[in-house]
Amino acid sequence: MSDCLFCKIAAGEIPSGKVYEDEVCYAFNDIAPQAPTHFLVIPKAHIASVAGISAENSTVVAHIFEVIARLTAQLGLNSYRVVSNIGEQAGQSVPHLHFHVLSGRDMTWPPG
Ligand code: IMP
Repeated sequence: MSDCLFCKIAAGEIPSGKVYEDEVCYAFNDIAPQAPTHFLVIPKAHIASVAGISAENSTVVAHIFEVIARLTAQLGLNSYRVVSNIGEQAGQSVPHLHFHVLSGRDMTWPPG
């Protein structure tokens, strides 16, 4: 999508702290980290949120979780949280599917 911030980041049109990239997904450091480690993993193809996942595009989600498992292992993270906010009330501020990966501090439950 031409006016989507995360589409532009994935395309390299807006600079980001890249953590990982392949043909399907892109991972980069969150600009406002909420933990010592906080990066986002996004599909390169535009999907607005988890609500936009269907039988036609769901393989990208399996791939992203495989990448999250690999990256966190490479970074030596043995405890971390994966979060995706859907909709404004849940805190979604960027309408392009993204998974937050947070680690490096104690976390509480339930989240606020
Ligand atoms: P959401 O609020 O769950 O939609 O998460 C969006 C995340 O994107 C927030 O944690 C923001 O800090 C982060 N963010 C917004 N703009 C940028 C950017 O340009 N680079 C990196 N992260 C960003």
